[in-house]
Amino acid sequence: MNERILISGASIAGPTLAFWLARYGFQPTVIERAPRLRAGGNGVDVRDQAIEVAERMGILPQIRAVGADVVGMAFLDATGRSLARMDVRGTGDEVEIMRGDLAAILNQATEDDVEYIFGDSIQTLEQDADGVRVTFERGQSRRFDLVIGADGIHSTVRRLAFGPESRFLKYMEHYVAFAETDPALGENRWVTAYNEPGRMAGVYRSGNHTGAKANFIFHRPEPLDYDYRDIDQHKRLLHEAFADMSWRVPELLAGAMADPDPYFDSLAQIRMPSWSAGRVALVGDAAYCASPVSGCGARLSMIGAYRLAGELAAADGDHHFAFQRYEEGFRDAVRRMQQVGPNLRLMVPKSAIGTRMRNTVARSRILDSLAGMERITRRKTADPLPDYERRSATRSR
Ligand SMILES: Cc1cc2nc3c(=O)[nH]c(=O)nc-3n(C[C@H](O)[C@H](O)[C@H](O)COP(=O)(O)OP(=O)(O)OC[C@H]3O[C@@H](n4cnc5c(N)ncnc54)[C@H](O)[C@@H]3O)c2cc1C
Repeated sequence: MNERILISGASIAGPTLAFWLARYGFQPTVIERAPRLRAGGNGVDVRDQAIEVAERMGILPQIRAVGADVVGMAFLDATGRSLARMDVRGTGDEVEIMRGDLAAILNQATEDDVEYIFGDSIQTLEQDADGVRVTFERGQSRRFDLVIGADGIHSTVRRLAFGPESRFLKYMEHYVAFAETDPALGENRWVTAYNEPGRMAGVYRSGNHTGAKANFIFHRPEPLDYDYRDIDQHKRLLHEAFADMSWRVPELLAGAMADPDPYFDSLAQIRMPSWSAGRVALVGDAAYCASPVSGCGARLSMIGAYRLAGELAAADGDHHFAFQRYEEGFRDAVRRMQQVGPNLRLMVPKSAIGTRMRNTVARSRILDSLAGMERITRRKTADPLPDYERRSATRSR
């Protein structure tokens, strides 16, 4: 059995995978480039089968307890007057949670059974018939049986084992940023948003948290040339894109400039012909990022990690078989969740007329009904979540 498994990335996919691998008797090690767990980000959705995954992990009560409790989205004019309000509450079984809170809960659920290494990164991978020799930027080289990349849209594991990012990244012509902001700039339990053509700036303020998050999206037909790890450069780009915008944007920008760990990235998807290469596989955004506007990132990474660990357990660690089953069982769900629909056009209309039309539609409640229908359709078409624990119990009888 392939027991020693190195997982790169300690956000959502990595710790979920580590949890299930440890439960099934594997020895996972998680390596994270950041010196500590990254706390940033807005609310992310845990819904549909991700709720079942969280329930089976025993962490659903903790997730519900810190749920972001956001009611809806309000579109404002430059004076702060509300132009349209949209209810975003779902059917009640899903939870919106701050990304940092979810990462912390997953980390707490695994830290006793899983080796975590912070502040380091894989540098090289060398596969042979029996395992993978891994060198690190800082630590001593080690051998593992398998290596899994859960290191996000700019995955190092993907670059080393599959090739350059440009082969798999589909740019969606926008950039997005999230940063700390003064809660007084937003409305309690609402996402407030102000648009100018091709730009949106807003405040995400949860009822359960004392702080609030600024969010920014801007249209950019061609990708920017920048270093995705250079925070100072991110801040400069953000400032350039929003410096002349009215409403409370100058204050939002000032907060973003003062945030030590803002999130800034292109809106993009990852599409790959295969999620494994020999003893290396990918999970979460590294393999099938759907982008923050899909609302599916956390869900895809939790379900994907659960399935990948389950298939490895069901195959007694036979990675060829397990990686194939993981992909066959999950491809269709990924394809559906990568269909982003009109979300982006609604959030960031490209013209003043487009913004007025969006506000009219939002006021008419058509969007609420469409969102409800979309949720029902997605759930109906999903295959049931496999129960790997029952499968392995039946097999060992
Ligand atoms: C700080 C942050 C804020 C985010 N905010 C939002 C948000 O507000 N809304 C939203 O929809 N999505 C957000 N995302 C993305 C969201 O978390 C993912 O879409 C989704 O949850 C899938 O998670 P993941 O674990 O696959 O990847 P990610 O969440 O992207 O996590 C990847 C992890 O790998 C680490 N990493 C990267 N490179 C290396 C390396 N070479 N070695 C070791 N570790 C590495 C990163 O530091 C990160 O912790 C955010 C991601 C991060 C990292």
